Amino acid sequence: AQLDTLDIIVLVALLLGTIAYFTKGTYWAVPKDPYANSYANANGGAKDGQGRNIVEKMDESGKDCVVFYGSQTGTAEDYASRLAKEASSRFGLKSMTADLEEFDFDTLDTFPENKVAIFVMATYGEGEPTDNAVEFYEFIGSEEPTFSEGTPAAEGPLSKLNYVAFGLGNNTYEHYNAMVRKVDEYLSKLGAKRIGEAGEGDDGAGTMEEDFLAWKEPMWTALQEALNLEEREAVYEPVFEVTEKDDMDATNDLVYLGEPNRNHLENKQKGPYNAGNPYIAPIAESSELFTDKTRNCLHMEIDISGSNLSYTTGDHIAVWPTNSGKEVNRFLHILGLADKKDTVITVRGLDTTAKLPFPSPTTYDAVVRYHMEISAPVSRQFVASLSQFAPSEDIKAELTKIGSDKEYFQQKVSSKNLNLAQFMQIMSGDKPWSSVPFSLFIEGLHKLQPRYYSISSSSKVQPKKISITAIVESIEKPGAPHVVKGVTTNYLLALKQKQHGDPKPDPHGLDYAITGPRNKYDGVHVPVHVRHSNFKLPSNPETPVIMVGPGTGVAPFRGFVQERAALAKSGEKVGKTLLFFGCRNAKEDFLYKSEWEQYKADLGDNFELITAFSREGPKKVYVQHRLKENGKEVDELLQKKANFYVCGDAANMAREVNTILAEIVAKNRGLDQAKAEDVVKAMRTSNQYQEDVW
Ligand code: FAD
Repeated sequence: AQLDTLDIIVLVALLLGTIAYFTKGTYWAVPKDPYANSYANANGGAKDGQGRNIVEKMDESGKDCVVFYGSQTGTAEDYASRLAKEASSRFGLKSMTADLEEFDFDTLDTFPENKVAIFVMATYGEGEPTDNAVEFYEFIGSEEPTFSEGTPAAEGPLSKLNYVAFGLGNNTYEHYNAMVRKVDEYLSKLGAKRIGEAGEGDDGAGTMEEDFLAWKEPMWTALQEALNLEEREAVYEPVFEVTEKDDMDATNDLVYLGEPNRNHLENKQKGPYNAGNPYIAPIAESSELFTDKTRNCLHMEIDISGSNLSYTTGDHIAVWPTNSGKEVNRFLHILGLADKKDTVITVRGLDTTAKLPFPSPTTYDAVVRYHMEISAPVSRQFVASLSQFAPSEDIKAELTKIGSDKEYFQQKVSSKNLNLAQFMQIMSGDKPWSSVPFSLFIEGLHKLQPRYYSISSSSKVQPKKISITAIVESIEKPGAPHVVKGVTTNYLLALKQKQHGDPKPDPHGLDYAITGPRNKYDGVHVPVHVRHSNFKLPSNPETPVIMVGPGTGVAPFRGFVQERAALAKSGEKVGKTLLFFGCRNAKEDFLYKSEWEQYKADLGDNFELITAFSREGPKKVYVQHRLKENGKEVDELLQKKANFYVCGDAANMAREVNTILAEIVAKNRGLDQAKAEDVVKAMRTSNQYQEDVW
């Protein structure tokens, strides 16, 4: 056949392409990866089977101490970094942190006796390991883990290993701190020697930070003794080097202005979308379910049709927030960086094991706005580490006192609801603290975390649109000079204002960079990803369901009821659908009031909404009371294998509901309280009783 011109062009192009491919890097330059030091790459951990031997890794990099972390949302990872830093600055231990997922554990039996391994383990969900700790947990907890030297488990293969353990848990869950307890048990069973007590931090009681601080001092003393360490005056040793790039401009295409990763930087966002890679989703609709003088409650519809994201009813959506301009400016001002906010900086790990929390090159403004949790409560340990950079001797003495005295800290900082920049402003009379290295903040502040929302729509009814129901956080404490404005929810409120035509949305003077880095969120967009959950409707719609969801706790139940109403409408048989909802009063904050009427029309008598209004009558009535009043019906449904769901406040409501359910079971089945509690426990184990609490 004859070749026509097009064929020839194609063939020539293919030939050139092939030559180019095979000569790559020889005859033409491969552009140097500008992100070679970005967080994805700077990570010293191992991948794909290479360098997964922790003992070797520590040997090569001259480390004496490894802090492993099992972390889901980043908190355990933060604590691990803090321990590693302290081990180094106070005791001169060469330390590294290590993601449990990135190492194998069969060589732990060769871990040198003069070194130490610290395990910081978060417990996730119902006493489960975090995703990155699953393999480690399964290995260490198996009947007969096989170690490199072949010593059987019964003969203590880990007898040389010194370890330290701290757990992050929440006492409102049944399996409180199960992970650290189990890991501690397994390690000691294998002969390893624990140094100090195994610590337990309690997020449920809100004492995580103080639990950690109280645990670590005696632990360091024990470690000092065990490894014969000498304490020295803590000197700050940066983990990251921050360099200002005068030869680069913030308009340069290589500079990250808040884009979370390289694809976003290059305008090529693509899935899979997850905790490391958000989808910049259009907000299809937004409204306020109610507003009163002090509260706003948002309803939003997030359009995921342009992505490969999917969800099922009961899942969570994660929203990636942006700090408000007001707080960003305050922070940059007090650090003396206001004039340099757009200066390009590169951030580099000073040793191979340092993991960057955001991509570089970037700017001060972008780091503070998109990557640092700058509005959160101040940590006492951070105050102590800040003291050496105080602008005067007096301030230094005050910081040292605050940092070392729990009560004084409470009085000067916690009780006032201050964030870090506000605290620094008060300390210095608003004079900038120009000598604090920026790296101290990168290392000492938390990474800005996505916030989760229980999806309030049904995936069967609207598979490509995710509903959010969120109360806008605005917390006033009596006597505190500052009103805490929730980071994410006020940002969402600004987006809602923009969608409704406000050209400069500015809730409470917070002033957001609402169009995102390089206007990439223009229109009305928000970065999100979806997290799948186990909080699920029964697969058979005839199974009855009982739902308890006061306030925004009703979010997933709107999805549940929406789904069951749609099934009923399409002719399916749907079982009893009983919802307990509570709010202040019927006129003020009754979420989705008219929608429930529609669902009732579709589901008929099979849908029952039982309300509790806490501020209507002389006595406060909560969902717990209503549950008790309806105990007989609840128990009958449970005996018919109804699923029982609770969503919302973990600290009080969910716990009380659990107690009341046991009372209901006891009363209606003639059991004593202990037996009834066992029945409720068994319901949890078999997933008949499910919680989505926060
Ligand atoms: P943040 O800035 O995170 O502040 C939260 C709170 O921390 C403040 O209210 C305050 O109490 C405290 N705080 C912050 N800074 C300070 C300071 N400087 N000093 C003292 N205290 C401070 N919420 C919903 O509304 N609807 C839902 O459907 C929903 N579902 C959820 C599902 C899951 C699985 C989880 C884990 C949480 C859910 N939440 C839900 C809660 C939600 O994720 C957020 O925590 C909430 O919206 C607040 O986020 P924010 O960024 O606005 O507030």
